[in-house]
Amino acid sequence: MSGFPCPHCGRALTRSRRGAPAGVVKIRCPRCRYLMFDYPRACAGVVVVKDGAVLLLRRGHPPRRGWLDLPGGFMEAGEDIESAARRELHEETGLAVGRVRPMGMVWDRYHLRGFGVLPTMNFYFVARWRKGEPRAADDAAAAEWVPFSRLPALRPRFAWAHMDGVLRRARRVLLGRP
Ligand SMILES: [Zn+2]
Repeated sequence: MSGFPCPHCGRALTRSRRGAPAGVVKIRCPRCRYLMFDYPRACAGVVVVKDGAVLLLRRGHPPRRGWLDLPGGFMEAGEDIESAARRELHEETGLAVGRVRPMGMVWDRYHLRGFGVLPTMNFYFVARWRKGEPRAADDAAAAEWVPFSRLPALRPRFAWAHMDGVLRRARRVLLGRP
């Protein structure tokens, strides 16, 4: 996080794990002692499944431009989780889905340019495709249906560490397969 200015006095902030609970980073100004923590950001997404295939996106912007991603993104203030997931799906693919099933939350990390790593809480839903073809927009450069059987080979191109586990869980929840 070198160079990110203190919101109080403008000096570059430093980050340290010293004196913080396990896994927590303290972000401190060396001049005025302004202190914050790497508070997590909430994200929401949807795994959409159609005939044994899952909807994957190719990222159109940094970070991880060109890598594979799931429809989803940062929640806005005041939004509920399911609405955020549906909004992101619609913004990135134009699709709307019917009933969604919650799959819980997984932790991950996101690299914000100029600031550094942020912990993220990623809430996911799984839904069956209903109608329409996905059209990539917003953060997505491309959208395509990928058979579950092809996912292991594509794993090195997944943008985020949490995607593999989320896709496995979605398959189990929706298709009843291990
Ligand atoms: Zn300061």
